Amino acid sequence: SVRTRFAPSPTGYLHIGGVRTALYSWLHARQHQGRFVLRIEDTDVERSTPEATAAILEGMAWLGLDWDEGPFYQMQRMERYRAVLAEMLAAGSAYYCYCSREEVEAMRELQRAKGEKPRYDGRCRTRRSPRADVAPVIRFRSPDSGETVVEDLIHGTVRFQNSELDDLIIARSDGTPTYNFCVVVDDWDMQITHVIRGDDHLNNTPRQIQILQALGATPPIYAHVPMILGPDKQKLSKRHGAVSVLQYREMGYLPEALLNFLVRLGWAHGDQEVFTREEMIALFHVEEVNKAASAFNPEKLLWLNAQHLQRLPAADLAQRLAPYLAAQGVDAAACAQGPQLAAVADLLRERAKTLVEMAEAAVFFYLAPPQWEAKDAEKHLRHQGPLLSEVHGVLAATESWEAAAIHGVIQDLATRYEGKMGRVAQPLRVAVAGKAVSPPIDLTLALLGREETLSRLERARQ
Ligand code: GLU
Repeated sequence: SVRTRFAPSPTGYLHIGGVRTALYSWLHARQHQGRFVLRIEDTDVERSTPEATAAILEGMAWLGLDWDEGPFYQMQRMERYRAVLAEMLAAGSAYYCYCSREEVEAMRELQRAKGEKPRYDGRCRTRRSPRADVAPVIRFRSPDSGETVVEDLIHGTVRFQNSELDDLIIARSDGTPTYNFCVVVDDWDMQITHVIRGDDHLNNTPRQIQILQALGATPPIYAHVPMILGPDKQKLSKRHGAVSVLQYREMGYLPEALLNFLVRLGWAHGDQEVFTREEMIALFHVEEVNKAASAFNPEKLLWLNAQHLQRLPAADLAQRLAPYLAAQGVDAAACAQGPQLAAVADLLRERAKTLVEMAEAAVFFYLAPPQWEAKDAEKHLRHQGPLLSEVHGVLAATESWEAAAIHGVIQDLATRYEGKMGRVAQPLRVAVAGKAVSPPIDLTLALLGREETLSRLERARQ
């Protein structure tokens, strides 16, 4: 059965490029009722941090990319790597290399002088006696001739000449295993069937396949996913804006929108743009991913976010909105005092592209605006005492506090002001919302409630 993995190095934030490969691995596992494994590749002790690991786990959880096994940590698997190294040494598929740095450098100099590509010449394959003055590294004894073929689901058949690949160091002189070796042992032990990862790793693949073959393991199927580029076609980086997944959460993006955006980067299903999680699982196929890198388009992401905001059930939307509203000063207690958040969110969703925007627009439903927008107040409240009194009067007398009734009342009043709804609605807006922009005024007032509307009108009248 299918087993995929995501194997990030915890050396920074969770990058959206990494998440794209995680998503593809996850989709592939889910679509085949397989298992998705999370593995933290933390052997670079200098650059790995617990904060980065925490950010990875938090980002994955936020996105709903749930893992079935793990997280496994490479640093906790050192015993296992050492055992495999010992087996390979015993079997002759690995050997101690006592060449000093100077010796290897001299070898390369000579090769360069001869116009050859510098490579380790394998001289320690047959060197018999250990040297007391050199702590040896361990090298993989790679095949000298023939070729190693990567059958990649995205790139097709990629051939590597074995003569181009020298004997790779698989353990350093201090005994610690190197990156390519750990990946191989892990993918083998974890019985990974499909390795889906960035194509910056494509050149590691023949080496990993060779080591797997030496271990008697069947190599997995590979799919190397192209990089994400910035709008300027350079590799996506901080210069282009946010690249950390958790930053997108902060900016008010929905995880489903971010995933939808990432699945569409370099993959298409007809002209469908919006995908639910279930649709992604059903329709995505890793072998349909483009070979060429795709460019990040922030406007597209924003558009998708708005699309997903519109599709969420109101109760769900309210739940997502609550923390953003709390960040604007409306905590759960304050929220409970005001109109139902689901109704407010439902009213606001057509105009908001992010949860941050939506929260900003929702605040006035719960907290009277501490001040009016100066320009709007000047234009719509100044000298409007009589109008505001009239509005107050009719609204206070309205029998039913429902949008339709409120609409009728405002319309009636507007007939006395050249029939212009705006003449009545705009001052009302500024009075209740603090500014001349709000959702339709009747719906707004209906939600805000009579008492609160009247009290804000009174304040605006003075
Ligand atoms: N740890 C590697 C990275 O973060 C991934 C290696 C792999 O997927 O094989 O780039």
